[in-house]
Amino acid sequence: MRLCLACKEPISGRIDKIYCSDYCKSNYHYQKNKQKDPSNFAKIDKQLKRNRRLLHHFNQAGKSTIRKEKLLQAGFNPKFYTHTWSNQRGQTYHFCYDVGFLELPENGKIKYILIDYQPEFMGKLPENG
Ligand SMILES: [Zn+2]
Repeated sequence: MRLCLACKEPISGRIDKIYCSDYCKSNYHYQKNKQKDPSNFAKIDKQLKRNRRLLHHFNQAGKSTIRKEKLLQAGFNPKFYTHTWSNQRGQTYHFCYDVGFLELPENGKIKYILIDYQPEFMGKLPENG
C-alpha cells in the first residue's frame, strides 16, 4: 500500500499519486520551502558580515573615500545593510553594523564615503541584556 508523502496516510485512487490530497501536496511543498529559510538566513548573514569586513578594511581612519568599483570587486554588495542614518543635508548612509557608506557621484565616477557609527550623534544603540 502506498502512503501519502505528507501525512503518511494510505492513498487511494490513481497508481501514480504520491499525495492523498491537494492539501497534502501544497503543504508538503510549503514545509520543504520553509526548511530552506535557515540557509537563506546564513547567506544573508554571511554577505552582511563580508560587507562589514570590507568597509572596516577600507575605513581604518574612521572616515575615508573609496571608488565603488573597488569595493564591488572585493565582494561588497550594497543591497545588504543593517540600517540607515541621514545627516542634516539629507544624505542617507547605509550601515553594515558599525560602518556606513554613502554613494556619491564625482566626476562621472561613483565614490563611497565610509564612516564609523557614532552613537553620540547618530543615535544610541541598545544596551546588552
Ligand atoms: Zn496526505
